[in-house]
Amino acid sequence: MTITEGVTMLQSSAGSHVFLVQADENVLIDTGNPGEFDAIWADLRSLGVDSIDHILLTHHDVDHIGNARRLQEQTGARVWASREDIPYIIGEKPRPGIKRIIQGIVRVEPPRMSGSYSEDLQFGEIQVIPAPGHTPGHVIVLYRHVLFIGDLFAIKHGTLRLFPSYLTWNAQAVFQSLALLKTLKFDWLCPAHGQPLQRNNAVERFLGQY
Ligand SMILES: [Zn+2]
Repeated sequence: MTITEGVTMLQSSAGSHVFLVQADENVLIDTGNPGEFDAIWADLRSLGVDSIDHILLTHHDVDHIGNARRLQEQTGARVWASREDIPYIIGEKPRPGIKRIIQGIVRVEPPRMSGSYSEDLQFGEIQVIPAPGHTPGHVIVLYRHVLFIGDLFAIKHGTLRLFPSYLTWNAQAVFQSLALLKTLKFDWLCPAHGQPLQRNNAVERFLGQY
């Protein structure tokens, strides 16, 4: 599904979306649930894409890092995440709460990390913005007027919904990250869970609460 010129939501990753940005370089935002590599790769090939320059991980959850290693091996992509979330991705720190149990059931081979985001890390026109709360180092990504929100919140059938507290590292930090959204210029919200939404009154009402 094409969101806007140069931005595609891959069909193969309906459970936890993977977005492709084709700007100066080919960039993937998140990599879906484990075991989806073949479908994601077929998707990319059908779009005429056979190389990925960067993979930007929004956070450490297994449904976002699931195919990073295979995609990296296939395409030579460099893989990036926040300094706070990398220890969870590479297995240096156990994930908190229920995510620790999920991590025990769903095994993920970690990618080789190329580095961490610093304050103003830019990938051409793509800007990485810290938005902690869902995890300690959760980030959102802005490309032109498209905002990729990872798991800051979900969008189901046009309704914007926070994640339940048992999946949230720090609710207060989530609220602060939501307040930050009001300062950003965007037309589209692209969540990992749910459907992309063009900015409308429901978005304004939701953000107005924070
Ligand atoms: Zn998720």
